[in-house]
Amino acid sequence: MLLLAALAAASSTVALGGCGAGADPGVEQVRVLRLNPSALVTKQARSEPVVRASLTASGSEAQLPPAMRVPQVGSLALGAPARGRLVNGLQLPARGPDWVTHDPVRRVIPNRGDRRWGTDRLLAFLLYVLRDYRLANPGAPPVVIGDLSRPRGGPFGSDFGGLGHASHQNGLDVDVYYPRVDRALAPPGDVSEVDRGLAQDLVNRFVAAGAQFAFVGLNVGLGGPPQIVQAIDHHDGHVHVRIANWRR
Ligand SMILES: [Zn+2]
Repeated sequence: MLLLAALAAASSTVALGGCGAGADPGVEQVRVLRLNPSALVTKQARSEPVVRASLTASGSEAQLPPAMRVPQVGSLALGAPARGRLVNGLQLPARGPDWVTHDPVRRVIPNRGDRRWGTDRLLAFLLYVLRDYRLANPGAPPVVIGDLSRPRGGPFGSDFGGLGHASHQNGLDVDVYYPRVDRALAPPGDVSEVDRGLAQDLVNRFVAAGAQFAFVGLNVGLGGPPQIVQAIDHHDGHVHVRIANWRR
């Protein structure tokens, strides 16, 4: 009951803040999503609350690996992916049952904490697809995830290292590296290192789950519905997935 009460309290706080169009300082809170097998949602007394995801296995799915349930906390994707910000976002954990994160600038696992924030909807979408993909491809290694957005969104260009991102500004974008033929947990160095079967399956699943766009490379040989799966430069090592902003 205490946990449910905390969930209700957190939700109502977010809802009130959302009506204030972001002016309420309460809605500026950011939350760190952590794996926790027992708790649903807790709120720490400190200034920055921690939202805990639950690892659950129930009913007929009891034999399956646990799924991660992402709490819906009323994240707001303001503006546009190329000029926007993120309010009340969630941080993708550095690692999870189906993924690891990779820092594209330092080229290490995991990615830095301030590069992996998104809306609650993006994280739920992402983790659903990753789990589905792993269940359908037994033995496939965890998926390597790159940048999402900054903790409060905003510019994420070359000031933050590397080529930087024109978009990734309001918690709706995520870079997902293609699986490698050698199964290494690292970005593919070139298209010959991409496991195209697994990569296409991953792209297909993002499309089926409702991605607005999946930007793939010009040379990697991946496809899909042309209005969603679009080939552009600099994406031969990863697919950039964007979900629609339903609040707009
Ligand atoms: Zn991207």
